[in-house]
Amino acid sequence: MEKYRPTIGLEIHAELKTRTKMFCDSKNDPDEKSPNVNICPICMGHPGTLPVINKEAVKHVLRMGTAVGGTIADFTEFDRKNYFYPDIPKGYQISQYKYPLVSGGVINEVELTRIHLEEDTARSSHETGDYSLVDFNRAGVPLMELVTEPVIHSAEQAVAFAKELQLLMQTLGVSEANMEKGEMRVEANISVSDTDKFGTKVEVKNLNSFRAVEKAVAYEIARHIEALERGEKIVQETRGWDENKNKTFSQRSKENAHDYRYFPDPDLPKLKLSEIPEFSFELLKQSLPELPWDKRIRYEKSFGLKKQDTNFLVENIAYATFFESAVVGKDKKSIELIANYLTSDVVGAANKQNLDVTSTLIGKLVPANLAKVIDMISAGELSSRGAKDVIADALISGADAGEIAREKNLIQKNDVGELAKIIVGVISENKKAVDEYKAGKQASLQFLIGQGMRATKGSANPEMLKTIFLEQLSK
Ligand code: ADP
Ligand code: MG
Repeated sequence: MEKYRPTIGLEIHAELKTRTKMFCDSKNDPDEKSPNVNICPICMGHPGTLPVINKEAVKHVLRMGTAVGGTIADFTEFDRKNYFYPDIPKGYQISQYKYPLVSGGVINEVELTRIHLEEDTARSSHETGDYSLVDFNRAGVPLMELVTEPVIHSAEQAVAFAKELQLLMQTLGVSEANMEKGEMRVEANISVSDTDKFGTKVEVKNLNSFRAVEKAVAYEIARHIEALERGEKIVQETRGWDENKNKTFSQRSKENAHDYRYFPDPDLPKLKLSEIPEFSFELLKQSLPELPWDKRIRYEKSFGLKKQDTNFLVENIAYATFFESAVVGKDKKSIELIANYLTSDVVGAANKQNLDVTSTLIGKLVPANLAKVIDMISAGELSSRGAKDVIADALISGADAGEIAREKNLIQKNDVGELAKIIVGVISENKKAVDEYKAGKQASLQFLIGQGMRATKGSANPEMLKTIFLEQLSK
């Protein structure tokens, strides 16, 4: 066993996809470019206004809780987390402290502590010189916070967890969870210990990509180990991640919960969730689509796909839906071929040429057209080489696979009678190779098949050629 054991617990925030904000009817639009348009007196924190709980946001979190097998709170309430900053005009953030909506649950074998609901802050920017700007479009957007137990032990495991969580949120439609857009933000708590007790943890904030999560956690683990080796103590603090220097840096000493003077928000009703019919476990459960981990099992077991193809499809929801339309009514062999061509040729071209990928259209390729290419391969009408060309064309032109193949002269000749005539000719013109083959030289058969391909200008189905040659030569 290694001398030092790293421990990581994650706190992940995600902006929820709802029509309106958490406590008012201002629009929740993460794509709004003009500042301060989706605002109202409530999310601007004007005195005398009253918040109203957004049911859709509560439901999103409860569906998450149901999906991960967590416990849905019977009783829940919202609390005020008090602090001063220009992005939080009320002087407090509405969050949940003692009674989170969800407790427990598991994702990727990582136990969850809780999932709760709060409101996002405004977006401030300090890049403009000697003043700062604040945009309140984001203020009051429903924000889900998910906290894990300290049970993660490597940077890779932390990233794998975050990716699976992102996939789950996208699958449930609760959040787009795009990290580049700040819709999903990761904070990592990291400690290292050489005893059976936890070491002192530091918190690294605002990790905005999976790469940043991986690098920051690895960096902190190494920093802790070096400090411990030198006999130094780790200071409990909050650190930031410097993307350019690839380093964490000290931001502030860690605040404690009591610094925030949490108390129940008197403006909001307490909720007896068990008494709200639409939040019944039965209905929540029914509202769940197939979950990523169930889908992985189905793709491997029912479709018989390779692990690698399964993972790619399950992790790329649009591709998976496209795949499922393409395979309707196909046998196992064809399904495997569809997965192969989709995850290699189609994905390759889509990435390289920056094609739009939706669940019904990749570039201009529709699922049925990909299925047609595979049918043509199965019927021996198209070689695997030809299939690649047809797919490349169909992605851009949207033309029918059969038409493309005919136009490009890629249809393989399968007419036995016609091929047999050609082969008779090849045999009579290549007496030497025929004799050599009959004397036991296998390579001569390859040569003859090659001559057959030449005679048909490459349009013969090589498998069929071989069969007919063997037949003729055995006479
Ligand atoms: P705090 O009170 O400092 O906010 P919490 O107990 O609420 O700490 O935990 C916050 C996060 O830190 C959780 O994700 C938890 O799993 C993680 N955590 C707690 N202790 C440790 C530790 N010793 N090492 C790594 N992570 C930890
Ligand atoms: Mg905490």
